[in-house]
Amino acid sequence: MGDIRTTAIVLAAGQGKRMQSSVHKQYLLIREKPILYYSLKAFEDSEIDDIILVVGEGEESFCKKEIVDRYGLRRIRAVVEGGKERYHSVAYGLRAICWPCDYVFIHDGARPFLDGAIIKRALEEVVESGACVVGMPVKDTIKIADDEGFVVSTPNRSRTWQIQTPQVFARQLIAKAYEKLLAQEQELSAEGVTVTDDAMVVEYFMKVPVKLVPGSYKNIKITTPEDLKVAEVFV
Ligand code: C5P
Repeated sequence: MGDIRTTAIVLAAGQGKRMQSSVHKQYLLIREKPILYYSLKAFEDSEIDDIILVVGEGEESFCKKEIVDRYGLRRIRAVVEGGKERYHSVAYGLRAICWPCDYVFIHDGARPFLDGAIIKRALEEVVESGACVVGMPVKDTIKIADDEGFVVSTPNRSRTWQIQTPQVFARQLIAKAYEKLLAQEQELSAEGVTVTDDAMVVEYFMKVPVKLVPGSYKNIKITTPEDLKVAEVFV
């Protein structure tokens, strides 16, 4: 896209506890290649300029050798260590950008079925609106529950979306939002706010509208052993 510069932050610093595996889920294999490889390859084959890979403590050299070098991924410009929560990992990824960058794609390394069409749609949208997230309309009815497990309300299904990644933002906007979050994380957690995606950081601190962009029902996050079976079928 002309002289627009883009960086993708790919997150792979999670413990993957719900996978019940001794190997971190991003390194589990689908058809002999690590899940993380597929997520990175989607950006490698796209018009994204640079990639930052965020990995777990002490895993940088393993990742450089076994993923970056082994598969010849040339757009990975930095491999950095993540943090305790996903939002720490994102913040450290954002701080590592020290090259020209207008827009940042933030993507879960555990979503291997991202494709070029989704990246293109998200890029076109972020240039228009400055903030967008990929997702899909939900197929099931969603209910809001109270602490005792009773239904509080039922949002109109035609307005509910399940949110995926990438989540894409103007660089200054997302950098500022995350610095505010880190400065106030103790107050937020005392209020019971749990940060589960990037858009909510922008919604909360920057009051900027975030546009929804269609992803795909295939763009699943590998979380539990069942997801791995589905992934085998998709590959
Ligand atoms: O835990 P969750 O499934 O929400 O993780 C989504 C993505 O964020 C995964 O790719 C995981 O590796 C990454 N993550 C991270 N740092 C953390 C927690 C999760 O990079 N502390």
